[in-house]
Amino acid sequence: MKWIKAIATIGLLLVILLGAKTVENQGITVLVDGVEAGGQPFGIVDVSDRQLYVTVDFAAEVLGGEVFWNSDHKTAYIKKGRTCLMLPVGEGKPQVNGQELERGEPARDIRGAACVQLKSVSEALGYTFAWREDDREVALSSPPAQSGITRPRYADFHRQGMVSISYDDGCSSHYNLAYPLHLKYNLPASFNIVTGWTDTPGRVTRAQVLELSRAGFEIASHSDTHPNRKGRFFKDLTPEEANTEVLTSKNKLVSWGVPRVEGFVVPGSVYGDWLVPIVSQHYQYTRCLQGRKDATRPVESGRSCLLEYTPNLDRKNLPSFCVVNGQSAEDVIKLIDQAAAEKKWLILMMHKLGNDKTDYYTWDPSQMEKLLRYIASKPRSELLVVPLQDGVRFDMGLGDYRCQNITAFASTSQAAAGDKVLLMARGYDSSGVEVPMASGFNPRWTVVSGDAELVDCQDGTALLTAGGKGLVMVRCSDASDPEKYSDVLLTIKGRFW
Ligand SMILES: [Zn+2]
Repeated sequence: MKWIKAIATIGLLLVILLGAKTVENQGITVLVDGVEAGGQPFGIVDVSDRQLYVTVDFAAEVLGGEVFWNSDHKTAYIKKGRTCLMLPVGEGKPQVNGQELERGEPARDIRGAACVQLKSVSEALGYTFAWREDDREVALSSPPAQSGITRPRYADFHRQGMVSISYDDGCSSHYNLAYPLHLKYNLPASFNIVTGWTDTPGRVTRAQVLELSRAGFEIASHSDTHPNRKGRFFKDLTPEEANTEVLTSKNKLVSWGVPRVEGFVVPGSVYGDWLVPIVSQHYQYTRCLQGRKDATRPVESGRSCLLEYTPNLDRKNLPSFCVVNGQSAEDVIKLIDQAAAEKKWLILMMHKLGNDKTDYYTWDPSQMEKLLRYIASKPRSELLVVPLQDGVRFDMGLGDYRCQNITAFASTSQAAAGDKVLLMARGYDSSGVEVPMASGFNPRWTVVSGDAELVDCQDGTALLTAGGKGLVMVRCSDASDPEKYSDVLLTIKGRFW
């Protein structure tokens, strides 16, 4: 506790030395959505890696989060909505909702104050970070207010018509244009990422991929390097190269914190029979263009893209209808109506959204909105909108993801009466893979014994307010299966003043 108080006190008075030069904030201003944040000194620029470090308290304040400390483990937590950051001081990687931040550095103890990289911490909370060298300004932009979509549950599936919207190549416009539209109409989608292309111009960033995943969207692999250039297609790779493509992209996505990477989207849709066992070793489904394994062919009526459910569904080679420039929303709506009428599954392949009329694969965002508005207007009993991974699971009768194990823990094991403690939980399936909060794990928090109150229980986190001293036991169970639970034990010390 002493450590916490020292941090809090020193944090407020923090003036940082950098080599021989001492400059308060070094003339740096932090703007949040254009408004200057706090007047107190807050940080240090590390010249070696050009990183701005700020105190944990300052970071939490400008990012609208709440700070919790664990003095035993020298770890700070910042909680904001459904996101929880764990920031170890000195060593250990920072984590966001239990997943390591690949590029994050541990918080540093700078003159007695725990300081974190403002860039990685703000991006982990969905902010956009920009450094303006000339003005010596950091400009942070808030993430969109709406935080996610709801996916249909298995109980909603009656073999009615289904539609899936599958975005290829991880284009920036998927984040900037498609994402807000899908939030607006509460429609799920699958984003198929070329992992080697992230953080390059015109493509989504890793932080954006994680944000999409946390908002409930499916993230699938579209290979690591998209081999369909210079006459060398995916089918022209050696088995070793193909295996590297499919595995590297999956491992990267998982290491960035995407909980379930179950789909592989064949780059260029040029597939070969011999690749099927290689891909299906690592994925639940494979998506192509028109279901042809060895050829691409021009977009046609789309008739062949209406999929029948089991036993005809071949999840190792799911065809999709490619929506291209020149088609109107009405053209696609006709196919959707057909899927609903015939009780079949239609998968739409989308590429970039934009107003470039010369690019074959670019589609007009206003047509996209028209299409999504129409899809959202259809009753669920006639048309279910699912990410591909859910469509495959539903068709196979696998139901929702099943949570077998829950891990629940508190930001600290000891607190004083009146303190607020952060609680976190995650669910895992029988093979130890995390179950997404949006489908399959529905955490419910209860105080089993002791004097404490739970507030602000949302998704996998809750806040506990300790009452009197003694032991408190809190349980996190799965609402759909109360037999699955995990308990957290806390010692509450009294206050004597
Ligand atoms: Zn592609």
